[in-house]
Amino acid sequence: MSYDGSAIDPTKPSIARVYDYLLGGKDNYAVDREIGDVFKRDLPGSVAIAFANRAALTRAVGQIAKTTDIRQFIDLGSGLPTADNVHQVAQRHAPESRVVYVDIDDQVLVHGRALLEENDRTRVVAVDVRDPEGIRSHPATLEIIDFTRPVAVIFSAILHHVNDDEDPAGIVRYWRDQVPSGSHFFISHFRSGNNPETREAEKVLQQTFGRGRWRTDTEIASLLDGLEILDPGIVPAPLWRPDESDSPWNSGEQRELTVWEHLIAAGMARKP
Ligand code: SAM
Repeated sequence: MSYDGSAIDPTKPSIARVYDYLLGGKDNYAVDREIGDVFKRDLPGSVAIAFANRAALTRAVGQIAKTTDIRQFIDLGSGLPTADNVHQVAQRHAPESRVVYVDIDDQVLVHGRALLEENDRTRVVAVDVRDPEGIRSHPATLEIIDFTRPVAVIFSAILHHVNDDEDPAGIVRYWRDQVPSGSHFFISHFRSGNNPETREAEKVLQQTFGRGRWRTDTEIASLLDGLEILDPGIVPAPLWRPDESDSPWNSGEQRELTVWEHLIAAGMARKP
């Protein structure tokens, strides 16, 4: 299969483009908006999952750049360029930060190459996240990632698109074994609420893409086996270090979370 961007198919919905639509982006087609509208219309409020996720990612990258010496990031399932991409957030705090973006969506690759590879510290790698060895050994990765130095490995809203029989824990384990002590791992993941909203949203994703797996906090934590999960643990994304927010989507206001905001979890871990 070609991942060079030549195979954009506007007749089939794509995870990246539906997500872009939910975030208010313009890189989507009618077929993507149709799926996005199922969420907007039938599951009102569900768009909060996408915003809460993106805000937690932004906080996590900002904190890694501000509070650690890590200057290299691998962003797995990076998605379409949006308001605050990982290199922009990291380079705001530490301009020398380098980022490898990994995605297999053809639209992401076309726009990614234009917008994410904007300086000599970013690269876009078109390899499936289920082939970590292929990502690790890709020339573009080797060009800017020094695996003898700590790395931030980002699994933001990607592992819920990896089904159980595709061994998501094995993917994390692979990266854990490749990076040195002090490396950080950020994860955000659909969080099972064991409620009708979760079941309905899961059904829509499974019917559309054949993937989309909600996991419990315990299941998500077990994906980070062998890593030290940092405070405050695996929690609903809006509650993940909200005070440190520099995100445009998080005003830091105190209020009850909506049912939807409970359905996306975030957490950070460190390799001991
Ligand atoms: N990480 C971004 C974020 O959190 O805002 C984007 C998340 S978006 C929901 C999921 C992204 O993962 C999409 O861009 C999709 O193309 C990509 N993706 C899904 N399955 C993938 C796979 N097997 N390998 C690489 N990328 C994948």
